[in-house]
Amino acid sequence: MKKLLLPLLVLLGVCGTTIYSCKKNANGRNTLSLVDDATVLSLSSQEYSTFISTNPPITGTPEAEMVQRVGIKLKAAVTNYLATKGQTDLIKDYQWEFNLVSNPEVNAWCLPGGKIVVYSGIMPLMPTDEDLATVLGHEIAHAFLKHGSERMSQQLLVDYGGQALSVLMSSKPEETRTIFNSAYGVSSTLGVLAFSRKQENEADEAGLYVMATAGYDPNMAVPFWERMKANSGGSSVPVFLSTHPSDDERIQHIKDLMPTAMTYYQP
Ligand SMILES: [Zn+2]
Repeated sequence: MKKLLLPLLVLLGVCGTTIYSCKKNANGRNTLSLVDDATVLSLSSQEYSTFISTNPPITGTPEAEMVQRVGIKLKAAVTNYLATKGQTDLIKDYQWEFNLVSNPEVNAWCLPGGKIVVYSGIMPLMPTDEDLATVLGHEIAHAFLKHGSERMSQQLLVDYGGQALSVLMSSKPEETRTIFNSAYGVSSTLGVLAFSRKQENEADEAGLYVMATAGYDPNMAVPFWERMKANSGGSSVPVFLSTHPSDDERIQHIKDLMPTAMTYYQP
C-alpha cells in the first residue's frame, strides 16, 4: 500500500498539504523540499572530488581552453542575472570550477556548488562557444533552480517514506550517494533520472537568459537544439540527448522566449 500511496501523493502534488515541507524555487514554483542546501553542497563536494580523482581534467588543449573561457563568462553572467531578480543568495556558497574530462559519453553537468564537468564525447556536437554556452547555461540553470534537490525529494518520498536527506545520509550513506548521483547525472551507470518537462522548460528559459547576459547571442541556441533533434534519431541515443529531449516543442519554446532573452543580450 505504501508503495502505491506515496507515488500517488507525488502525482497529486503534496505541496499545499501540511504533510511535507515545500519551498518556492527561483521561478516561484512550489517544490517538495526534503533536502537542505548544506547537505546537498556537502554531498556535491564529495562526489565531485571522487569523480575528478578518477577522471583527471584535460588541460592545455583548445577544447579545454574553450570550456574555461565560456565557463568564466557564464559564472559572471549567473551572478549578474540572479542580481536582477534579487536572488544571488541561491549561489552564495558556490565555488565555481569548469573541467573537460576524457570520456566518450555525450554528457555535461553542473553540480550544486558550481562544479561543471564537460565530457570530451559531447565536444564534437559543440563547435562554437555559443553552442557550449547553450549547454552550460542550461545545466547551470538546473543547478540554481535546484531541480536535482526536487528530484531527490521525490525519490526520498517514494523510496524512503519522506525521510529527510540529512537523516538518510547518516543511516544509509551509500543509498544517499546513489540518489544524489542519479539526480545530477554524474554517472550514467546508475540510471539517470530524467528531468521533468516542467524542469526542462525552466532550465531552457533561465539558461537562455544567462547565456544572453554572458554576451552570447541567444538566437544561436535554436540551431544548436535543431542539430540535437536531428542527432537524436540515431540507433543509440546518448545520455545527454536521452535526458534532454530535443523536440519541436522545446525549439518553439526557445523561439517564443527570444524577445525576452534579447533584453538580456549585450554583445
Ligand atoms: Zn536539462
